[in-house]
Amino acid sequence: MEINIPEEGEVKSLNFIEQIIEENIEEGKNDGKVQTRFPPEPNGYLHIGHAKAICLNFGLAKKYNGKCNLRFDDTNPTKEDVEYTDSIEEDIKWLGFAWDGEIRYASDYFDQLYEWAEKMIIAGEAYVDDQSAEVISAQKKSPMEPGIESPYRNRSVEENLDLFRRMKNGEFEEGSRVLRAKIDMSSPNMHMRDPIMYRINYTHHYRTGDKWCIYPMYDYTHGQSDYIEGVTHSLCTLEFEIHRPLYNWFLDQLINTEYRPRQIEFARLNLNYTVMSKRRLLQLVQLGYVDGWDDPRMPTISGLRRRGYTPESIRMFADKIGIAKRDNVIDVSLLEFCVREDLNKTTQRVMGILNPVKVVIDNYPADRTETVEIENNPEDETAGNREVAFGREIYIEREDFMEDAPKKFFRMTVGQEVRLKGAYIVKCTGIEKNAEGEITLIHCDYSPESRSGSGTPESQRKVKGTLHWVAAHDAIEAEVHLYDRLFKDPEPDGHKDVDFKEFLNEDSLKILKGCKLESSLKTAQPGDRYQFQRVGYFCVDKHSTPDNLIFNRTVALKDTWAKIQK
Ligand code: ATP
Ligand code: MG
Repeated sequence: MEINIPEEGEVKSLNFIEQIIEENIEEGKNDGKVQTRFPPEPNGYLHIGHAKAICLNFGLAKKYNGKCNLRFDDTNPTKEDVEYTDSIEEDIKWLGFAWDGEIRYASDYFDQLYEWAEKMIIAGEAYVDDQSAEVISAQKKSPMEPGIESPYRNRSVEENLDLFRRMKNGEFEEGSRVLRAKIDMSSPNMHMRDPIMYRINYTHHYRTGDKWCIYPMYDYTHGQSDYIEGVTHSLCTLEFEIHRPLYNWFLDQLINTEYRPRQIEFARLNLNYTVMSKRRLLQLVQLGYVDGWDDPRMPTISGLRRRGYTPESIRMFADKIGIAKRDNVIDVSLLEFCVREDLNKTTQRVMGILNPVKVVIDNYPADRTETVEIENNPEDETAGNREVAFGREIYIEREDFMEDAPKKFFRMTVGQEVRLKGAYIVKCTGIEKNAEGEITLIHCDYSPESRSGSGTPESQRKVKGTLHWVAAHDAIEAEVHLYDRLFKDPEPDGHKDVDFKEFLNEDSLKILKGCKLESSLKTAQPGDRYQFQRVGYFCVDKHSTPDNLIFNRTVALKDTWAKIQK
């Protein structure tokens, strides 16, 4: 995969949607106004693909001094829920966007849509069909051959109107009748073969309650909703291109103004090593493969948030992937690149040991402790320094010691010097092991004149390796969750005869207990983000408490060595 990352300050050329919008503004179309909308169906939590659509719609409105609505396309009461609308609102706000005015709901337009449906019946453009959905679907045939017209297609206006009203009044069973548009059963576009406009459904709607027992189909709702809201540029993903003639057809039957929403299709975001359809994500939640919609391994916005992603990093990602007309797959490493870029600039550095081994500095006085000063963020001059406790016994990362080290191993090994970040130069003198051969204690001597920042020649002496550490007398314990990709396969969705769940990565969550952290993290609150030096970026989990600290690893450091060596 090729990632094109523009340099900072580089002027990006307009994408094809911006080009269309600028042309429209120039011609004075819609009086130069730009109105977009983000129209989720509240049947699940938003994912990173939706973030792309959100950044696009809200971003364009911002750029062109326009407005962007939030509209819930709530035409299917069977699958929709307030839990979802709440989470969608929260996610959009968190991403840093604000919708124009009140939230809109397609269900607010049910009366208008019903009125329009009667208008179409009266004009002879819609009819009630008594056949089942299966029969209707079979009669549509394939694009290669004309479909079969329903025996009910030529009912009288009076009969249609009467039946439709009785459908609305609850006189018929669910599934027994539908209202269909009378268009063309031999159209090469299957969506034009007398599509269903209304179906009977006795489900309670989370907003309209039991007022309706017929609900409009999405295709009969979407274009008119855009029209009602004065949407100028109706942006949607490519699969709706084929629906566009139908949306236009409905408006042509119902509206005689010149104004029309202009639908423009763009390529949806596909990310590798994950699934993105809400239906599939719901399965993972319902079957307990993950800890809810906001599990840090989920590609949902709430999952990314819990993982430690920032709104800035997601907006940066949306910006870098850009807008195209052809489908492609984006490598998840680009998302990780973006979050590293952002967290590198903003997070405080701290020291934390994931897999600790104890070190004793034998020539350091047993009754002494001190504090050393360490900078909070080398990328941010205003971040200042903090005091970190130091003492005779410390913890280091087990993997920072090696018994039979190769020449290029610049970390700790017997006889070799390393600097303890912000503190002293130490030299390993020996190790102790238990019966299983596991190292239980590392012995070192320190160089008393080498304290960082003390100005002595010894303190300025260069040694090859620098290690992070935590003083044993000051350390606090925490649980750390390390995440890997949720799927082992780059395209879990792309296998014809194999269910996507077969490709779940059983090692996608590793829980480490007994990690040792510097005590400044004692007060870390859920949502706080840090860089554990040389280890990665971490975010305090929502279940974390002062007595049971839990850190989620957002992402590992790309280059574990470069940063601290400087
Ligand atoms: P899914 O297929 O994942 O269930 P959806 O398309 O059914 O999603 P909607 O709630 O209908 O979800 O989507 C709201 C808006 O978000 C639509 O305009 C849709 O085009 C856009 N959108 C959904 N998925 C993506 C994606 N992967 N990339 C870009 N835009 C997307
Ligand atoms: Mg959908």
